[in-house]
Amino acid sequence: MRKSVKYEAHLDDYGLITIYLSRQFYNGKSDVFYLKKPDGSVSKCPILNFELSQGDYNKYIIQTNEVIEIGQAYEVTEEHGLKVPLQYSLITKTARFDQEFYYDGDDLGVHPSNDGTDFTLWAPTATRVILELMDTPKKSFEMKRTDKGVFRFNVRGNLHGRQYLYHVLVNGNWNTSSDPIARSATSNNTASVVIDYNLVDVERFAHRLPPFSHPTDAVIYELSVRDFTAQVESGVKSRSQYLGLTELNTKTPSGTITGLSHIVDLGVTHVQIMPMYDFSTVDEDNPSLFYNWGYDPLQYNVPEGSFVSDPKDPLKRVLEARQMVQAFHKQGIRVIMDVVYNHVYEMESNAFEKVVPYYYFRRSSSGALSNGSFCNNDVDSNRLMVRKFILDSVKCWMEAYDVDGFRFDLMGVLDVDTMNAVEAQCKALKPDSIVYGEGWNMPTILPEEMKANMGNQSKMPHIAHFNDFFREHVKGRTSPDEITMKGYASGDASFIDAMKGAMVGNCIPGLVKIFDQPTQSVNYVECHDNHTSWDKLKECCKEDSREIRIKKQKLMIGSVLLAQGTPFLHSGQEFCRTKNGQHNSYRSSDAINQVDWLRKERHLEVYQYTKDLIALRKRLPIFRMTSSTMIQNRVSFRNFDGMLVIHYTCERKNPYHELWVYINPTNQIYYEHFDDFVEILANEAGLLDSVKAQNVTINPYTLVVFAKK
Ligand code: CA
Repeated sequence: MRKSVKYEAHLDDYGLITIYLSRQFYNGKSDVFYLKKPDGSVSKCPILNFELSQGDYNKYIIQTNEVIEIGQAYEVTEEHGLKVPLQYSLITKTARFDQEFYYDGDDLGVHPSNDGTDFTLWAPTATRVILELMDTPKKSFEMKRTDKGVFRFNVRGNLHGRQYLYHVLVNGNWNTSSDPIARSATSNNTASVVIDYNLVDVERFAHRLPPFSHPTDAVIYELSVRDFTAQVESGVKSRSQYLGLTELNTKTPSGTITGLSHIVDLGVTHVQIMPMYDFSTVDEDNPSLFYNWGYDPLQYNVPEGSFVSDPKDPLKRVLEARQMVQAFHKQGIRVIMDVVYNHVYEMESNAFEKVVPYYYFRRSSSGALSNGSFCNNDVDSNRLMVRKFILDSVKCWMEAYDVDGFRFDLMGVLDVDTMNAVEAQCKALKPDSIVYGEGWNMPTILPEEMKANMGNQSKMPHIAHFNDFFREHVKGRTSPDEITMKGYASGDASFIDAMKGAMVGNCIPGLVKIFDQPTQSVNYVECHDNHTSWDKLKECCKEDSREIRIKKQKLMIGSVLLAQGTPFLHSGQEFCRTKNGQHNSYRSSDAINQVDWLRKERHLEVYQYTKDLIALRKRLPIFRMTSSTMIQNRVSFRNFDGMLVIHYTCERKNPYHELWVYINPTNQIYYEHFDDFVEILANEAGLLDSVKAQNVTINPYTLVVFAKK
């Protein structure tokens, strides 16, 4: 922290020290400063600049010609004899620091084997590091500083399951910290825990997964471990736990399929799991007393403990999270992890800041924290060792937990190079993995051209973004202030041109073009954020009967599933999920957030429709085109008053020659006559079985698909 005590000395660059001196101490005046080296020798530091600050401090920039050996303890003494440790501050932000201390080894963290357990911690600004094993009695070991500021210690034997902490002497303070790259932890992270992944192994089922080659072949289904099986009526035994998502054939009291079997029946290809790394604000010893979605990271490589059958058992965290991924794989479903590398819950208490202060969080040139995440700390992804941390963390989840892709929360806070490196590494580990994120333009302290946001999509050709243009124009505005505004599919036919752009994944010149390729567009109208689309419809279509709102719910789902790009559904959307009108339920109760399986019984029609359109999408490659050029060659549009007609010419025998999607958001009935018979593939009733007709009716608020061989 800067300007937190009356006198501070910060090494902000090689040879340059910033001094803050409280004006309550000799009016903040000192005419001379001395640097004391570890060997006790003292040298005078010329004052280069003095600022009479507006606030409580005077600021001095002083110079030292001494070679500072980073990690050694220096002191700075002012005129009246007050001395403070020299802090390694913004010097950690310099390119030279990264050059000198970037460590590219793959041995960071704790690696147990039968030959011994290696503890390895990158802490270049630390003077000393002590490893504490929480045995009885506790044992402490002085770690040895090696090249690049890596501290090491080897303990005899495989310490699998043993607890440990680090004590780091840095900037004059002893910080007690968990391991930033711990593999597991005790409940609420009171200690890190050594894990030998080989000793909590589960069978791998990756080979059973169906082939998958393009992001547009995915149908993504977002769910929360806690919400999905929270309801008693889900019939799930391990409710709100990893293991709850491994139970098959669970049913409501009246026999409706729930849980994992529901997902399998629906036919999605990928689940996106809301935060499952260790987050902070749910007391793991009393999980039912607190609720939080988990966008408040505490430990990046540790599974969240409130989802474990026994949060006090650090091995079960690893085992049960693995079993969940395994259970999905066994059913042919891939698993995408929602990761929040853009900020942590609390910077000051986070292991990053305790081990290498100033390094991991983005700051301005004056030291002010960047706040593009609106959480008072942005992770500084373009520092080399932060980038490496993110890469290693992603690799850990892919290798140790077998996950198949990542959804990056507030990706726009991170930088383009980091995201491209993540994507390349994911592809190298699993060629069919996918990476996408929230590409919003966040006000983080990064040059515009470096931000991993939608505006820079062309620099990240293999990374997809949530398409908010689609969301805002197909469903209608999401902000609570604009909740009454309709989109095209909720009934405002004036958005017909926006609808055209959305239905081709916004990658075609001449319509609203956001992306170069359809593989970059994740199309959605509903996710965990904002009102559910059902709750939104209640606000923007107050005049409609429930029956009409159900039709519009289906029309929105149909639009998502038949658009070019990658479709994304929020769990429960397929049976009109409600959060009772709450637009941000991140810390609301289980009652608000839980998936209500009794609604599935009431809205089986919407469920069946969703399932049918997923099947239609999977059957017809024309809805899953992989390039903008293909789409331009095969798609054309026609306006029919407010109704949109999308015409596709397909590759021969694939299996149709021509295909039409009519989207009618109006209250008018339309009739279309064809000279030849066409096959109606789907309408508001879902999939139809070889219905041939020359005259086709397009009912109000419906979508009709027909085709000709
Ligand atoms: Ca936790």
